[in-house]
Amino acid sequence: MVGAVLVHGGAGRVEPGREALRLAGVARARDAAWAVLEAGGAALEAAVRAVEVLEDDPDFNAGTGSVLNRDGFVEMDAAVMNGEGRTFGAVAAVRDVKNPVRLALEVLRSEHVFLAGEGASRFARERGLPAHDPRALVTPRQLERWSRARRGAGGEKSGTVGAVVYDGRGVAAATSTGGILDQRVGRVGDTPLPGAGTYAEAGLGAVSATGHGEYFARALAAYRAVAALPEHGPQVAVRLALAEVEALGGSGGLVLVTADGVLAWDHTTPSMSVAWRDAAGAGEAMGKGSV
Ligand code: ASP
Repeated sequence: MVGAVLVHGGAGRVEPGREALRLAGVARARDAAWAVLEAGGAALEAAVRAVEVLEDDPDFNAGTGSVLNRDGFVEMDAAVMNGEGRTFGAVAAVRDVKNPVRLALEVLRSEHVFLAGEGASRFARERGLPAHDPRALVTPRQLERWSRARRGAGGEKSGTVGAVVYDGRGVAAATSTGGILDQRVGRVGDTPLPGAGTYAEAGLGAVSATGHGEYFARALAAYRAVAALPEHGPQVAVRLALAEVEALGGSGGLVLVTADGVLAWDHTTPSMSVAWRDAAGAGEAMGKGSV
């Protein structure tokens, strides 16, 4: 089958012993996205499906299992973008939705591009996404990490999820996050900002980013990688975007698919979990690469 899927489970430092869980998680998400393509689904739906699987996986910092903010609850951001027509939808600071990426897709389908907080929740109800108990998003592991951070270990990042997909015609990207551990209430990172954490453009490619959102936002990292494609090609494009983030003082990773289905990814953190599949085969890794 023609098509390409590349999924990430966040850049950062994976706690010892959790690598296998992370790789199994991104592989499951990749397979779910591939199944959408095999059933004739479009890149956008496949990217959303991959991210939804990871939002439901408690080992990742998105949906269930998100990090807790300073007040001890979950606030999530998500975005989706379709290369064709450059349509975009995002939500920020959402507290009572099980799958923020589905809500971002509903925003994309509406007359808006971005809804935040209470308004995003109301819109979710209008679109038939039921109210989800915020306590059900909190896992014992994240509660424990938050208690440690509250005792002075400070905030950290890891486990944001995203996917880029080529369906044989076009490209799409989706990203979802609980943000940064112990973040200030109302803090929003790069994930839901078009061109920062998520970007797709027909004829060029699509990117989903993970890392220190404040720097990715200022670097317009996702757009920067996509815009660099014609001149530099996929491998150098991801490196250039990350170099820009690094020059500002941040670190993280990017996954990219070109408009003809070439995959590339890179990170400046100790690791980043990825899983991919294209016509040539499938794989999972904790490192840098391209297919
Ligand atoms: N980029 C996300 C944010 O800043 C966090 C991450 O990717 O780990 O909200």
